[in-house]
Amino acid sequence: MPPTSPPPQEGSFGPARSGVTVPSPSPAPGTAESYAEWLGLALAVARRTAESGDVPVGAIVVDSLGVVVGRGRNAREAATSGFDPTAHAEVVALRAAARSLGRWRLDGCTLAVTLEPCPMCAGALMLARVSRVVFGAWDPKLGACGSVWDIPRDRRATHRAEVVGGIREAECAALLLDFFAGQRGRGDAPGAAGPAADDDANQGTIRDADGEIPS
Ligand SMILES: [Zn+2]
Repeated sequence: MPPTSPPPQEGSFGPARSGVTVPSPSPAPGTAESYAEWLGLALAVARRTAESGDVPVGAIVVDSLGVVVGRGRNAREAATSGFDPTAHAEVVALRAAARSLGRWRLDGCTLAVTLEPCPMCAGALMLARVSRVVFGAWDPKLGACGSVWDIPRDRRATHRAEVVGGIREAECAALLLDFFAGQRGRGDAPGAAGPAADDDANQGTIRDADGEIPS
């Protein structure tokens, strides 16, 4: 079992663990309705991984007005990505947003993703100065936004981002669980060779609805 994480709650589970309120540097409006809508868009992106056989994780970046400025899905298995080991949905979406806006600083923007970002992606969103991350399913094994690590709210960091987890969690988790069930059905479950062989970030380390980690 991975280290225990704070009980996930619907919606924001608060600022940095120091107890110090860290206001979002962006005046971007944040409502439960907008979060749910953004996760719906991210889910639609995630479903497109069927084209490459990647683990279904999708992400979008929206600007301070709620306009989508970047999209990305896992693409490690995609030949078009050059089998890029860093081609996680979040990184792909951040790059697209930066290209779209013509700047690498994405302050004021929100990253919405179907699975809690891993340490690499949490680091990337911090480097991009993203103001808020909203995600669906929790990842108690490799999550870096509150589960195992809490990079966006690390007191040592010079930038912090607001974290909102557990939005449309059941749908986001179900997409991943269905994917891995299909993998097992084909005999290429994690541990065997194949696209889902490894068990690292964004590789299905999420819980099911009962909080169990898929075996
Ligand atoms: Zn990642």
